[in-house]
Amino acid sequence: MASLQELVAYCDGRTAQTDVTDFPGAVNGLQFENNGNVTKIGAAVDAGLRVFEEAARRGIDFLIVHHGMFWQAQHPVTGTIYKKFKTCFDANLAVYGSHLPLDAHREIGNNAVLAKHLGLEILEWGLEFNGTAFAAICRGIPRTQLSKKLKALFPKTFKAIECGSENPERIAILSGSGNAAIPSLKQLRCDTLITGEIKEENFVKAQDENFNLYPCGHYATEASGVSALAAELSEKFSLPWEFVGFENPL
Ligand SMILES: [Zn+2]
Repeated sequence: MASLQELVAYCDGRTAQTDVTDFPGAVNGLQFENNGNVTKIGAAVDAGLRVFEEAARRGIDFLIVHHGMFWQAQHPVTGTIYKKFKTCFDANLAVYGSHLPLDAHREIGNNAVLAKHLGLEILEWGLEFNGTAFAAICRGIPRTQLSKKLKALFPKTFKAIECGSENPERIAILSGSGNAAIPSLKQLRCDTLITGEIKEENFVKAQDENFNLYPCGHYATEASGVSALAAELSEKFSLPWEFVGFENPL
């Protein structure tokens, strides 16, 4: 058993959450408290009711999520929110959210871990939002190699729009919503983007600008950060951990 307070302090420090400015209304840190004791850690991308119910069923009492419960200033505790709260109370389930801090993190962030899983060398970080650079800019590898690795990593969500060089020079990785990166690719001197989801018009953009775009799923590309943090906590506090997932195809 470990103390909730210790786990939260570790997560707050490790994600350097205070250094990253998130979207207005996003809450990074402890979102729902439990009785103070933790016996099992969970990691999930989204703070959905079914995720909470599954976490409760598995005896998890500390759940790390990337897309947290709160995005607005005020939340009446009714309907689904009430059910989430009730599930947390009944299962003594604490919820910890880490959104943009777990995208930007240089070691356990979504983009850093994706680069590692793909065996790509990070050259620098680019694409600033409120003073923090979020995209991992990696040294290029031949496109056939890259798409093979991506297919293996994202077998169900892999998509390829290959309108750029067969030998990418610089590859940008931006998990989740990749629309923000596309207008900046040229400026970042990148010809290839690995991301989560993009829009219909980005296909023509890729043709017009000779980009390779790999939208491999918002959910799928954002499972690595929470997992890395949970695995680290598990090791540090000698607690078991599990990923609580639903196969979100988007
Ligand atoms: Zn996201």
